[in-house]
Amino acid sequence: MELYNSWAKCPKCGCETIIDVFRHKGELFYDTSRDHHYNHFAEQDLIQRTCRNCSFSWHELPLDTRIRVVAPEQGEVNRSETD
Ligand SMILES: [Zn+2]
Repeated sequence: MELYNSWAKCPKCGCETIIDVFRHKGELFYDTSRDHHYNHFAEQDLIQRTCRNCSFSWHELPLDTRIRVVAPEQGEVNRSETD
């Protein structure tokens, strides 16, 4: 999932008018993004983005999300809180 970018355009139609809704971790919401289309508990804090023109929907990460570091040879590495 990409970090939220308020300037992003819809990846499908290029429209600049996107409806953004913040979803708390654990919140039940109607997920219209790829492969979903059902009520779904948010697995983490996210911003649900829906194109006003074509209704394509996708999720982005809030700007205060702790990003996990991915090392190419070792796979995903989680940084501890004390790093
Ligand atoms: Zn669109």
